[in-house]
Amino acid sequence: MRLILLGPPNAGKGTQAQSLINTYQIPQISTGDIFRANIKQETPLGKKAKNYLDQGLLVPDELVVDIVTDRLQKDDCQNGFLLDGFPRTVVQAEALEQFLKEHQQNLDQVLNIQVRTEVLVERAVGRRVCQQCGATFHIKFKPPTKDNVCDVCGGQVIQRKDDQRETAEKRIKVYEQETSPLIDYYEKRDLLVTIDGEQSIDKVTADILNALKDA
Ligand code: ADP
Ligand code: ADP
Ligand code: ZN
Repeated sequence: MRLILLGPPNAGKGTQAQSLINTYQIPQISTGDIFRANIKQETPLGKKAKNYLDQGLLVPDELVVDIVTDRLQKDDCQNGFLLDGFPRTVVQAEALEQFLKEHQQNLDQVLNIQVRTEVLVERAVGRRVCQQCGATFHIKFKPPTKDNVCDVCGGQVIQRKDDQRETAEKRIKVYEQETSPLIDYYEKRDLLVTIDGEQSIDKVTADILNALKDA
């Protein structure tokens, strides 16, 4: 199964990715996670990407595409993959299309998780992430069992700097300008399924799994 999770920041892509990778036994490829890991380790890539993430801007396409195409050539992607947060521009989508063509692969589905802006901001300001393993929580909708402690690994749970209201709002604007054209792009290729992301986490998962039955 080769899937893309499309949707604005804080729509629930990472949350849904967890169920999908278990169901289909495919790796989750989150470009945001890759950048954050590189920033934490202060790699050359991390140094180039940091300012963009801090400001809620997209990292330039040429830095993103190579990382993803390298990753897609690893053995664990043979049976498929789940792209979370990539592509985010038409240039990235075209590069992915070219790569898949060269490797005689096809996408099965693009899941477009739809959530209104006001709900996205509420999800952003309440989102908390584990510093150690990246697991995601929400102070209201999915609180960790013990305050500020990760249920998965016991790590410390913190707020991402770019989830503060102002940057979160900026990221939504960037999504609307640069990423939302991909809805049309994948609709034209008959790959798009739109999912109502404002339902409970479990109901969103159920709708996604149902949509993928026909994929
Ligand atoms: P994305 O990967 O799209 O940026 P996340 O999966 O990290 O989004 O979710 C953003 C925030 O919203 C997190 O705090 C998460 O716990 C919460 N969340 C995700 N899905 C739902 C949902 N269906 N209802 C309520 N809160 C949700
Ligand atoms: P969210 O799902 O909440 O939008 P991500 O973790 O996917 O957040 O992304 C965080 C940041 O990483 C983005 O704001 C952007 O700076 C950078 N980033 C992630 N993926 C891409 C991409 N495909 N293209 C450009 N920048 C990206
Ligand atoms: Zn953790």
